[in-house]
Amino acid sequence: MMKLSDRIAAPVLIEVQDYSNGDGSLNVIEVQKELCFPIKRGYWIHKVPSSEISRGHHAHKALWQCMFVTGGTCHIRLTNENESHEFDLSPNGQALLIPPGYWRDITSFSENAACVVLTSDAYDEDDYIREPEAFREWQHDRQAISSVPYIEMSRYYSRLRLALLEATDSVLKSSHYILGKQTRQFEENFAAYCGADHCVGVGSGLDALSLVLRAYEIGKGDRAIVTANSFVATALSPMLLGCRPDFVDSDRRSYNMDAGLIDAAITGATKAIIPTHLYGQAADMDLIMASAKKYNVKVIEDAAQAHGGLYKGRRCGTLADAAIFSFYPTKNLGAFGDAGAITTNDAALAEHCKSLRNYGAREKYHHDELGCNTRLDELQAALLNVKLPYLNAWIENRRFLASVYNDRLSGIDGLVLPYVPDWAEPVWHVYCVRVKNGKREELINALEAANIGYNIHYPVPLPDQKCFKDLGFDVNDYPVSRDQAGELLSLPLDAYHTEAEINYVSDVVCKFFQI
Ligand SMILES: *Cc1c(COP(=O)(O)O)cnc(C)c1O
Repeated sequence: MMKLSDRIAAPVLIEVQDYSNGDGSLNVIEVQKELCFPIKRGYWIHKVPSSEISRGHHAHKALWQCMFVTGGTCHIRLTNENESHEFDLSPNGQALLIPPGYWRDITSFSENAACVVLTSDAYDEDDYIREPEAFREWQHDRQAISSVPYIEMSRYYSRLRLALLEATDSVLKSSHYILGKQTRQFEENFAAYCGADHCVGVGSGLDALSLVLRAYEIGKGDRAIVTANSFVATALSPMLLGCRPDFVDSDRRSYNMDAGLIDAAITGATKAIIPTHLYGQAADMDLIMASAKKYNVKVIEDAAQAHGGLYKGRRCGTLADAAIFSFYPTKNLGAFGDAGAITTNDAALAEHCKSLRNYGAREKYHHDELGCNTRLDELQAALLNVKLPYLNAWIENRRFLASVYNDRLSGIDGLVLPYVPDWAEPVWHVYCVRVKNGKREELINALEAANIGYNIHYPVPLPDQKCFKDLGFDVNDYPVSRDQAGELLSLPLDAYHTEAEINYVSDVVCKFFQI
């Protein structure tokens, strides 16, 4: 289901649909199917004098073109630093798709040649490179990396622009903006992707967790087990309902909830365990489920960072009573605004959450309970429907880039690489290293000097967050989280980073450690 723009690195001939009968023939290029850009300009070249031996002589920095002849023939050569391609164009039902970054020479025009060109943008002299020397310089600069963003969301937009605009347009003109067919479709698609029976689209990951807790009637006076190292939402959601988060320390190697500590943290008031699949890697679910069974409490996965992640071959989102996801823009599957979802195999829970997200109504204007307003909206659902088919390919690239880091950075004294238990297949929402010996600040300075983005997940363990201070936790009761908060460092790793970018980051890290 990939669009051409994600596959094409080089110019290709595409088949043009041809409808021929005795009345003549009709050739059609469907933008959505054949092109990877919306057509902004079209022009044609004809009556080229036979004395003209070559046209073209330029390159484009960003412009895509689709070229074909409607009569006669011509020859085109496309070159850049690494490749050269030659094509003979004739009216044979094919068109040539030319990505940006190729120098072009068009020669051998037959007398009757008529060449049509469709382009992705209007005329812009700044997009042209007209001197071969300037083209060589531009190519060289383009390949030389001098900065790496932590994440650059616009890369998603530029790859998927046409499909996203089309989806937006279809929603805007549909007149249905809340709980319509896009949301239903996404709920079906995402449930199928996870392998869950039900998916309920809501307004955010935080709300998703709150609805599940409310549907399970977990609230005032209750307690929930939460990991000390997570995003605040995991603990904030129960807290806002009057349910006390009881933190357990992180596992020394995986940074996930230390499942061995759960039993000791369970009290008579404990109603739920909320394990986070931190950084895109599943928590130790068999141990967690065993504790839950022993004490008869619910388990709700916080899978906000783990879309597509696997635990013993099963997808996150299907490993417990229910799971919550966030589609915050920078998550592995992100919307273009706030969005979230619940997945579960429990039909009654799903129905209950659908009611709660929509003013407590199962039937319009019949409010059986105090609900709230937190619905996944049609626009975000439509945009997520466009992005979901790419998720597996994005995960593949994240895995590849993580393997590049693993290769480049292994064996450095004082740098701890991510640990992956053999039952986990993480999706690398975050590539998190640990910088020992108090060197994190210095390494951050080196990254900043090289224009490399970074993050810290998370600088303050949850028991030490001011918003929970009334609960009276002492961070020293969570020594692993406490110590690791000063060492964790997230390096850039996103689906649209390139191997060259990861190598650039690796070079800077290796140089810092004098490797
Ligand atoms: C992002 C995130 C959330 C919250 O999601 P929102 O959609 O921002 O409310 C919850 N838990 C974890 C682990 C997250 O990373």
